[in-house]
Amino acid sequence: MTDFSQRWAWVDINLGLIQHNTAIIAQRIDPTEVWAVVKAGAYGHGAVQVSQAALTAGATGLCVALVEEAIALRAGGISAPILLLSEQPASQAHDIVLHDLVATVSTAVGASAIAVAAAQVGRVVGVHMKIDTGMHRVGVAPSEALALAQFIGSSESLRLDGIWTHFAVADTPSHPANAAQLQLFTNTLDMLASHGVTAPCIHAANSASALTTPNSRFSIARIGIAMYGLLPGPDVRDACAGLIPVMSLRARVSALRWIDAGEAVSYGLRRTVLAKSLIATIPLGYADGVPRRLWESHTSVLINGIPREICGTVSMDQLMVDCGSDSSVTIGDEVVLFGSQGEHTITPDDWAARCGTIGYEIVCGISARIHRRYV
Ligand SMILES: *Cc1c(COP(=O)(O)O)cnc(C)c1O
Repeated sequence: MTDFSQRWAWVDINLGLIQHNTAIIAQRIDPTEVWAVVKAGAYGHGAVQVSQAALTAGATGLCVALVEEAIALRAGGISAPILLLSEQPASQAHDIVLHDLVATVSTAVGASAIAVAAAQVGRVVGVHMKIDTGMHRVGVAPSEALALAQFIGSSESLRLDGIWTHFAVADTPSHPANAAQLQLFTNTLDMLASHGVTAPCIHAANSASALTTPNSRFSIARIGIAMYGLLPGPDVRDACAGLIPVMSLRARVSALRWIDAGEAVSYGLRRTVLAKSLIATIPLGYADGVPRRLWESHTSVLINGIPREICGTVSMDQLMVDCGSDSSVTIGDEVVLFGSQGEHTITPDDWAARCGTIGYEIVCGISARIHRRYV
């Protein structure tokens, strides 16, 4: 078998830090349960490995976006509850029941599909009903929640195990939409309860709400980004104190050359150097998830503990950095694109700020082409 780990660019995933972050979060939001959100390959960190680490550190359930993501976790030997975060096509209901997944339902059509699949194998299956309190993406309208709950209650094959919602502006805790959504959610829960509809699992919070807003916690919090040690947003920095980024992107210098003052590097020859400079080539690029436009914002990588600026357009498979007059850099030296080296740390959130995006998109974008090493 080919050993992809020999490539001179890789990702380090520190599973000890998944445990560290999960334990901190679980303690801060106790007695609310942590359900680890491991969709999109655990935000690029590796779903099975992260799930096992999170469950070891106190998470009691998992959340994914897709049935195939959940099946991969079951194939990896994971038996914890796995919640699907939105209603899935009716054609997947059989797999949902077969693999003992927790379906989210928002429509009677979706609930019926699960009921039919459950009846076929003679089982009663627990589902969670999603309510749209203002995000306006998926979920049943509050005014239709009772009818859907009664439809679920009337099926001999379904059991209402959860009721939940999701905040649109959780990363700005002071935004009035948070309080409005929370109020609408609790009003809807009260209305349902007055008709005898209750469920053991009530949840609303993602990382940002769970860490900043105690009355958003209910029985479960769906924790994603904070478990990976990244910020939900700049306004949540204080609440994330003590959390450490889990992913680090590393490489080795693969080529070196001196260029003269007035010369430039990479496609477009966009930026000339002012003095004779040593240019180090790093063998990864935008096909690996390094944003092409990163060079425009004078982003640096670390080599031998010193920041070195990306000095030309990031190409598909390689990028170049300016080592100035420092002739000590040699082929094979370790490069940190994000992570720590010496006294410096660069985080995916730093890249996100430079690229006008969020840390979520940076880590999810580190492509499968790069080997993940678990440390
Ligand atoms: C992705 C997702 C989460 C996790 O959000 P974080 O900000 O990463 O904690 C929680 N709930 C739902 C519905 C999601 O889609």
